[in-house]
Amino acid sequence: MSVADQGASESAVLRVAMLGGTFDPVHLGHLRSAVELREALALDRVHLIPAHVPPHRTAPGVSGEQRLAMLEAGIGDTPGLVADARELRREGPSYSADTLASLREELGEQARIVMAVGHDAFLKLASWHQPERLFALAHVVVIERPDHRSALPAALANLVGEREVGTSRELFATPCGGLLRLSLPSRMAISATDIRQRLATGRSVRYLLPEAVERHIRTHGLYR
Ligand code: ATP
Repeated sequence: MSVADQGASESAVLRVAMLGGTFDPVHLGHLRSAVELREALALDRVHLIPAHVPPHRTAPGVSGEQRLAMLEAGIGDTPGLVADARELRREGPSYSADTLASLREELGEQARIVMAVGHDAFLKLASWHQPERLFALAHVVVIERPDHRSALPAALANLVGEREVGTSRELFATPCGGLLRLSLPSRMAISATDIRQRLATGRSVRYLLPEAVERHIRTHGLYR
């Protein structure tokens, strides 16, 4: 059965999320939230999608291919997590709208597609490239910290309009166009910036990222 055919019967409608980022490098904060997102929304897959970053903006010696290789190593055999290279294969800026369009084309009209964003990114959503198109292609799920509910800026409130729903059941009644704010159990105090600084100054990164990612970093002499 093709992916498009699966969309035909309600019980088999695919649910897929994209989680974008630079993943420079991927760490346990990213991976744990991807796993929790998948469980909270009963998703078939979460695609972790490294952004194409101009070479002069990446950490010295760390290419998109290396970020992807670390992501693959970090995911390992974790069920339902996918290292997705589509933004690295595309020239120019990585607009989420274009990425969602390519997922939509691949998964078919009926698939439930989610773009997951952190609260900070969500607050800037109205200034993203083609914000309305994001909702024409996917649902937006905001990963909140439990205590993090503030009023929305005017442009964002305008964009969001009446889209917000309270449950994943309501969200997945349609293929796209909704907004759900979701608290995930664990938000780890881990950042890639801190990991890069630790590596650059010879400090330990143990237990901040998967061992396989640390091994890859050491083997290839990255972030020194
Ligand atoms: P940097 O420190 O380089 O800015 P980062 O650690 O914030 O990187 P990104 O690659 O920018 O990582 O993040 C990708 C996605 O993962 C974003 O949606 C971000 O909000 C989320 N994220 C980052 N750190 C964590 C964390 N500790 N727990 C959960 N989600 C995280």
